[in-house]
Amino acid sequence: MTTDVTIIGAGLGGLTLARVLHLHGIPATVYEAEPSPAARSQGGMLDIHDYNGQLAIKEAELVNEFRGLILEGRQALRVLDPDGTVLLDKADDGTGGRPEVQRGELRQILLDSLPVDTVRWGHKVSGTRTVGEGRHEVTFADGGTVVTSLLVGADGAWSRVRPLLSTATPVYVGKSVVETYLFAADTRHPAVAKAVGGGTMIVHASDRAIFAHRERDDTLHAYVGLSEPQDWFDAIDFTDARAATARIAREFDGWAPELTALITDGDMPPVLRPLYALPTGHRWDRVPGVTLLGDAAHLSIPNGEGANLAMLDGAELGKALAAHPDDTEAALTEYEKVMFPRSAEAAASEDAEAHRTDAENTAAHGLSAAVTRHEQSR
Ligand SMILES: Cc1cc2nc3c(=O)[nH]c(=O)nc-3n(C[C@H](O)[C@H](O)[C@H](O)COP(=O)(O)OP(=O)(O)OC[C@H]3O[C@@H](n4cnc5c(N)ncnc54)[C@H](O)[C@@H]3O)c2cc1C
Repeated sequence: MTTDVTIIGAGLGGLTLARVLHLHGIPATVYEAEPSPAARSQGGMLDIHDYNGQLAIKEAELVNEFRGLILEGRQALRVLDPDGTVLLDKADDGTGGRPEVQRGELRQILLDSLPVDTVRWGHKVSGTRTVGEGRHEVTFADGGTVVTSLLVGADGAWSRVRPLLSTATPVYVGKSVVETYLFAADTRHPAVAKAVGGGTMIVHASDRAIFAHRERDDTLHAYVGLSEPQDWFDAIDFTDARAATARIAREFDGWAPELTALITDGDMPPVLRPLYALPTGHRWDRVPGVTLLGDAAHLSIPNGEGANLAMLDGAELGKALAAHPDDTEAALTEYEKVMFPRSAEAAASEDAEAHRTDAENTAAHGLSAAVTRHEQSR
């Protein structure tokens, strides 16, 4: 079977590409490993930036749908000391340029904007190989195959398409986060809800950090950051939620109870997320008929930019393909020429740091950049 544009991965990047191609009348098929759109919780809130993610939404002609998702007031920011002292309490004045939306809802408006059957759920790619003349064969876990003249790897950190272009693999960055959720916090956990406030709260101390968001209604979602090697986490049995919670909480001894409650009072089992990154500046020589976008191309330590960049990659790749209908290689070259330096800069530059919110910096690094900058500006 031969298809037109074959996209692997129905994350935000792959779906944005499919949407922009659809708007330009270019057929595409997205193969997604998960069995259905609801197979997995899509994670928490994302702030969508006016300099990248929102540009993609405009290109996808989904501005009104996006506006309908914005959670008002969520750009508020509180920075606390581990003892609960408030260092900064900044209201959301509506001028932040980074409205917050739920990732799952953003993904859904993209899915709803595509023709039925664009996404083939339950198609886990197990391998890819070049078959010549710019064509590639994709093999699925069930043994099925497709051959395509344009293959786009939008399949995230552990991309099965990336080996066609590069030998790079993600490496552990020395930090992990443990995710927790507290539901109905205003009534069930009022002290914690007050500490987190209306948007984002950050607390850090050397190699420990807590970053919490108020999501839709009064759900609190926390990322508890610890800078430890992987074998440190391997020694904790995360299948035993109670024991894992107690072990992580021990690392926060002496922190205010309204902060440690984000660890100990979770309504869901804690989820460990080790953080990985590709080498900064990861790139490849042009190989006819295949490219990557989003995390597959430039996975970095979470810095508040990843989903935004994946969407912008998808939108720009779609636009480039529409602009060069008879010359796919010209389109891929044009796309990569801009994408490579943009993603390298986002991962590396001091400048990018200054563009991120303080919350993102703290979430990303568990370090002092955010608070230092707050202190300097006070
Ligand atoms: C803890 C944490 C917090 C983050 N916070 C933020 C934030 O606040 N803001 C932000 O902008 N970014 C954030 N990021 C980064 C962001 O999540 C990613 O950069 C973004 O999701 C990348 O989008 P993508 O479409 O490239 O890949 P993904 O979202 O990873 O989507 C890839 C898709 O491909 C599918 N897939 C994978 N393998 C296969 C296969 N073999 N066959 C078929 N399908 C496959 C997956 O199921 C998935 O649906 C965070 C990341 C982490 C880990």
